[in-house]
Amino acid sequence: MTDADVIVVGGGPAGASAAYYLAIQGHDVLVLEKATFPRDKICGDGLTPRAVSELVRMGIDTAGWVRNYGIRGYGAGNFVEVPWPELASMPNYGLAKRRKELDHILIRHAVAAGARLEEGVAVTGAIRHERTGHVVGVLAKAHGEPREYRARYVVDAGGAAARLATSLGRVQSKNRPMGVAHRTYMRSPLASTDFMESQLELWEGEAGSSNNAPGYGWAWPVEPGVLNVGLGSLSSKGAPKGLDYRAMFETWMANAPAEWEFAPENMEGPLRGAALPMAFSRKPLYADGLLLVGDAGGMVSPFNGEGIAYALRSGREAADALGQALARTSAVSAERALARYPKIMADELGGYYSLGRMFASLIERPEIMHVCVRHGLPRPTLMRFVMRLLSDAYDKSGGDWMDRLIASLVKVAPKS
Ligand SMILES: Cc1cc2nc3c(=O)[nH]c(=O)nc-3n(C[C@H](O)[C@H](O)[C@H](O)COP(=O)(O)OP(=O)(O)OC[C@H]3O[C@@H](n4cnc5c(N)ncnc54)[C@H](O)[C@@H]3O)c2cc1C
Repeated sequence: MTDADVIVVGGGPAGASAAYYLAIQGHDVLVLEKATFPRDKICGDGLTPRAVSELVRMGIDTAGWVRNYGIRGYGAGNFVEVPWPELASMPNYGLAKRRKELDHILIRHAVAAGARLEEGVAVTGAIRHERTGHVVGVLAKAHGEPREYRARYVVDAGGAAARLATSLGRVQSKNRPMGVAHRTYMRSPLASTDFMESQLELWEGEAGSSNNAPGYGWAWPVEPGVLNVGLGSLSSKGAPKGLDYRAMFETWMANAPAEWEFAPENMEGPLRGAALPMAFSRKPLYADGLLLVGDAGGMVSPFNGEGIAYALRSGREAADALGQALARTSAVSAERALARYPKIMADELGGYYSLGRMFASLIERPEIMHVCVRHGLPRPTLMRFVMRLLSDAYDKSGGDWMDRLIASLVKVAPKS
């Protein structure tokens, strides 16, 4: 007796995507979510063209959402403005949407497609087949009461903590980058910008006359008059840097141009932070009936801290592999279908994330970041190339010389 063909643990972007793509194939999919929608998620709320292309593929109506048309980077007394490129594989604009709204829209979309959602259900562990060891269900606290749910396959979409995968020994790798980022909302005249504003250099004290702080900042509008503002730092070896993010944020506010009006009285809510697990930091993505998607599989990009595009993408690929497996008539054949999921993710992103790991080990050192910013920002062609690489905004086949160069670099890099 099963409760569903597939149980998806967690209803964030990764879980909603997996559930949506399974539901449109006609499978019985049950999402177990510990919170109740609409719920908040600490995030920058930024959607690059790659993320937008995933939303378009899912049929999400984004009319009226705040759009952006590129990235503006500041540092070492310079600034550069790089519009999103014209590409075949994605649109030339990004979006921003508060996660409280975005995640609600995505999960409702999955439910409208036929997925079932149970909220207030916190998954605590796995039920394993006594002979094969395969995950055939989950233990949960449903509205505070212990409950068991059974399915043919289980997807862990439970975010960075990945409680289910962790309970099975699939732990965060120590040799992958880990980001920590904090954000708040701010009423600011800068919210009239239609670019993603990136502060590539932060300072420990006064701008220009103190040491560089190990981090970067961002600000972009999420609705008229309101920015998502935040800062983050990166550790190439997964060790938290123990930084005082509140102090860093206060210093940034003090150093920001006066006309931006970054001030405590303009903040909507406190500065809040969370971890960003990167570059496939939790593996294997498939084993023993359990697939990992999104942050549960550590899929944030080490280049720019973006995770939503990869959460949506991995949900889609996982659902595709699961759909194939559910149609097979033998266990061996089903396993073969499921083994394609980690392979496809490695083929698509393994080389890119390896480059990202190299990038992370360089720019985690503020003195190197300073040199890159100082010599890089004044060179527009170089910056167009770098921004394309950092935001994964390139055509993987065809395209111009920049796309072809990035594709070649990704191809020769070892698969993460
Ligand atoms: C400060 C910050 C800024 C960021 N900015 C950006 C950005 O601008 N753009 C971008 O693309 N990415 C950004 N990211 C990364 C992005 O937030 C994540 O990559 C993304 O949320 C991953 O989606 P997910 O569905 O895998 O996980 P989540 O969004 O974390 O969703 C996991 C879901 O699982 C549920 N859950 C967890 N445990 C259980 C359990 N045991 N039982 C049942 N349910 C459970 C949670 O309640 C949640 O709903 C940022 C991250 C941080 C911390």
